[in-house]
Parts: sequence; structure tokens; C-alpha cells
Amino acid sequence: MYKLSNRSLQRLYGVDAGLVRVVKRAIELTDQDFMVTEGVRTREQCCINYGKGRTAQQCSLKGVPAKYAQPDLSKVTWLNNPFASKHVTGRAIDLIPYPVDWNDLKKFHLIAAAMKQAAAELGVRIIWGGDWKSSKDYPHFEI
Ligand SMILES: [Zn+2]
Repeated sequence: MYKLSNRSLQRLYGVDAGLVRVVKRAIELTDQDFMVTEGVRTREQCCINYGKGRTAQQCSLKGVPAKYAQPDLSKVTWLNNPFASKHVTGRAIDLIPYPVDWNDLKKFHLIAAAMKQAAAELGVRIIWGGDWKSSKDYPHFEI
């Protein structure tokens, strides 16, 4: 049986209590160890994310200070409103396989299966980004 690391636990700080219960139950159920990479996202982190792959002008149009523009990097977010992510309000978390492996989707599916089982047990409704029809977000879970 796996256990959440201290770092993962710290990243659950401020996240919705129901979602935290699901994560804590999922780590007991899962056959694939995982870590929490992001819980509550600060406004600053929203700006950093939005600036990746965008020009100063594109940032300014959305209320993101021009200093965050990093047009040479790859885009990491497609949000219309840079601050609308459920991470901002603590209603989302990102989980990735441990040891870190972005390439084996089967591992993300195993994590999702444990999260869904835990959510069903606890009566908490969750949505997995891997179930989205377009721009799938495999690490992402929200309520
Ligand atoms: Zn996410």
C-alpha cells in the first residue's frame, strides 16, 4: 500500500475537504503510486502559466502583467480566462505517477480508477480531465 509524501500532503492544503478525502482514500486503493503536483494555484502561478507561449500583448489583453510573457516557451494553458481554473478556488488537483512518468497513459488510467473508486465510496462527485472529449488533462481531477 502506498502513502502520500509530505510534499504531496502540503500541496493539499486549502483544497476542498471532500476532494482531499478522495485523494487520501485513493492512495490506499491504488496499484500505481502517485504524487500531488498542484493543489491551490495562486494568482501569480496563473500569470506564470498564462504567460508561457504568449506575447506581452496577448497577456495584457487578459489582465496578465506583460512581465509574465514568455513567447518562446510552449503553451501550458488554454483557459479563456487565465484566472478561471478550478485550481484557484481549491476545487481541483493534479496527480501524476510516481516515479514521474508522463508517457505511460496506462499509469494515469490506474490513478483515475483509484480516484473514481474512492469517490464512489465516499459519495463525492469528481470529474477526471482524462475523460474530457477535447484537450484531455490526464493529471487533473476536479469537483
Ligand atoms: Zn489541473
